[in-house]
Amino acid sequence: MLLSLRTVRVGWLPVVAAAALAACGGEAPPAPEAEVSLAGAIDFHAHSGPDSRPRSVNDVEAAQAAQAAGMRGLVLKNHYTTTAGRAALAMARVDGIELFGGVVLNRSMGGLNAEAVRHMVWDEGGRGKVVWLPTFDAEYYLTREGSSEPFVSVVVDGRPAPELEEIFGLIAEHDLVLCTGHSAPEEVLLLLPAMQRLGVENILITHVFGQQPTLDQMRSMAGAGAVMEIDWLAVFSGGRTIDEYVEAIDAIGAEHFLMSSDLGQAGNPLHADGLRDYVRALRGAGVSDADIDTMLRVNPARLLGLQP
Ligand SMILES: [Zn+2]
Repeated sequence: MLLSLRTVRVGWLPVVAAAALAACGGEAPPAPEAEVSLAGAIDFHAHSGPDSRPRSVNDVEAAQAAQAAGMRGLVLKNHYTTTAGRAALAMARVDGIELFGGVVLNRSMGGLNAEAVRHMVWDEGGRGKVVWLPTFDAEYYLTREGSSEPFVSVVVDGRPAPELEEIFGLIAEHDLVLCTGHSAPEEVLLLLPAMQRLGVENILITHVFGQQPTLDQMRSMAGAGAVMEIDWLAVFSGGRTIDEYVEAIDAIGAEHFLMSSDLGQAGNPLHADGLRDYVRALRGAGVSDADIDTMLRVNPARLLGLQP
């Protein structure tokens, strides 16, 4: 059974589907409308304020809501400032939840600036764990958008930008997670050998579908040991379909994917609400709870160095 986006979003499907199942009286496939538990779930892509973009909740409110939903943790992402200290501060205010922060190497952080990574790691509380390559300032992203804004290049003359040597080294040394931001699939594939050579072990391809990779490119990323993020926001907002995700999961294997919300925008559902809809949509498209468990719980925990 396939759920349309609209059906999932308006939320009346559970009643209808439950009635239909009761009526036919029999063997239900993994039921999309069954209770969705977020116990153990970690949202690796959670936006919250304060931010220079409008957000629905601040860090503490996001943490409280995730904790109330029974989640295990959140990675707080801000495109322009470091969130390591903020994660520590919010975690001190909310019991029973793991919060992580990081830094996105956009121009506001100095671009490919190793010093920004160092200070993210040194921030009191030790919650700085994630380094994203440039996102909204990425060369690929801005060029694709037809923008004339200055950009940060991760590949220069067909080779990894020289600054990445030190940055990848720091990521390896401190056992951080390297997320690829809005780098092109071709750039990612060119950078992966350098990441490996410098000992980077935890690699997450930021919302992989956003950069429009081919299936073969995704296979190569998986083959190089990277985990690929598939986010709910892209489906929720209509840019991607759950079927595209499922096709890739079926072809490459759930062990190579990670589910995140990428929510937190003003006006959008909260992280946990989005993740619940995400689980229902995947179940509706035939994905097993075991695979969902791998993508929502096991892989995020492993990347972050937590016990699965
Ligand atoms: Zn995002």
